[in-house]
Amino acid sequence: MKKYHTEQRRRLLSFLQEHSDRQFSVEEIAEYLCGDGTISVSSIYRNINAMAAEGMIQRFPREGSRTFLYQYIGDGDCREHIHMKCEICGSIFHLDQEAMAAIDASASAAAAGFHINKKKTILYGACGKCK
Ligand SMILES: [Zn+2]
Ligand SMILES: [Zn+2]
Repeated sequence: MKKYHTEQRRRLLSFLQEHSDRQFSVEEIAEYLCGDGTISVSSIYRNINAMAAEGMIQRFPREGSRTFLYQYIGDGDCREHIHMKCEICGSIFHLDQEAMAAIDASASAAAAGFHINKKKTILYGACGKCK
């Protein structure tokens, strides 16, 4: 049972890693992965929310809907910094530690100890290649 779950998680993660420039809804992921019946929509939900909590998946609120889109961002210290997303090619960039420390300090100074929720904060723009 446990091993089966680990395998589902591994397949989901490798799918998202292979398409790390895109964001998917759970329904879209299900279309790709549920074809052979070895992974269920409910297990995709469970696993993807766990991975989002661990910081390797970014959750994007979907406009006009209460659902989310998901994109792989990396398995490093992604809980510790803000991400930038290119609106043209979809690539995700990681703000470095120094820049993050400066932003944290400015936010905190500007509003009496303000704390940025890094998991929810995304900077949108165009990357150097797409600009
Ligand atoms: Zn990151
Ligand atoms: Zn780009």
